[in-house]
Amino acid sequence: MKVITIVGARPQFIKAAMVSHAIHTHNRKNNNQIEELLIHTGQHYDEAMSRIFFQEMCIPTPTWQLNCGNISHGAMTGRMLEEIESILLKEKPDYVLVYGDTNSTLAGALAASKLQIPVAHVEAGLRSFNSAMPEEINRILTDHIASALFCPTKSAVEQLKNEGILNGVHHVGDVMYDAALTFGKIAEQSSPILQSLKLNRKQFRLCTVHRAENTDNQERLTGIFRAIEEIATEDYPVVLPLHPRTKVCLERFGLTSQNPYLRIIPPVSFLDMILLEKHAFTILTDSGGVQKEAYFHQTPCITLRNETEWVETVAAGWNQIAGYEKENILNCIASIPTIREEIVDYGTGKAAERIISLL
Ligand code: UDP
Repeated sequence: MKVITIVGARPQFIKAAMVSHAIHTHNRKNNNQIEELLIHTGQHYDEAMSRIFFQEMCIPTPTWQLNCGNISHGAMTGRMLEEIESILLKEKPDYVLVYGDTNSTLAGALAASKLQIPVAHVEAGLRSFNSAMPEEINRILTDHIASALFCPTKSAVEQLKNEGILNGVHHVGDVMYDAALTFGKIAEQSSPILQSLKLNRKQFRLCTVHRAENTDNQERLTGIFRAIEEIATEDYPVVLPLHPRTKVCLERFGLTSQNPYLRIIPPVSFLDMILLEKHAFTILTDSGGVQKEAYFHQTPCITLRNETEWVETVAAGWNQIAGYEKENILNCIASIPTIREEIVDYGTGKAAERIISLL
């Protein structure tokens, strides 16, 4: 069986790593039954956003490295579509595997489905119900053309049912939970980030911001930036690994800070990120993945958006939806939860294994 995996952005490298490891394990026991080839679309392309993840998580080297980063949504998706189609025509895989909700996900799914190659979507059925998010469009369209839909949660399965998608839907658990378990232990042993940033356990806050709805909107980005600047103190500094898009937007809006306890650093590797997440006192984020990892690693989370796809983390009392206004964010900081209900929905750390056996 030949599978072509399509990735392009940071969260996809992490998810695909887990499935690639499961393929590798399956192949050892089953005489190399699955041939996996990888297309990297180049949506994220530099050392900090891409290469480090391939090294650290031992992801197979991409067979095809495209160069579709840093252009507008339409141009990016169009260019990917054309290049992926020509690869699929030559390789004729049995399945195309796509992950999450980026332009790479949509382009891969669209190219494959037009050639009648079955598409498997990992992280299917997630919805924010905010159609202004490019990711929401990508998810909905991908789910409606996929033939295998691997859902991380039961609510994702329900959502697909509501949209009339019943065939090929499987609740497998969350591959990000697999990643948190696998790399959580390794991070404790190998990441030097706490020492190198001189951070004490549970005495700092971690923040990430990269959603276009926040970065591209001056009012929103200002609200968030001023809030984190205000909460950054000597006792609780704020560490902000800065996404390249956010860097550009902070500069464009002239947002700078003289507060030495707001520690703006380049994006960090996955192992460093896990260690920061585990040992932060609180996490503030607009990332989908980081909200869940906050839950996995038992660190309270404040979400810098008006809604979330990961509704279970809110129901579990561990994630507060703050939006982008400074006062709301400060109110959430003042009322950090202490009780965290257990969510069984995310699986047992064997989601990738389930995906491979179902395929
Ligand atoms: N992440 C990382 N380094 C960073 C910031 C995030 O390794 O500097 C990881 C994070 O732990 C999570 C994933 O990247 O696993 C989330 O990606 P991102 O926030 O870019 O995308 P989203 O999850 O919102 O789609």
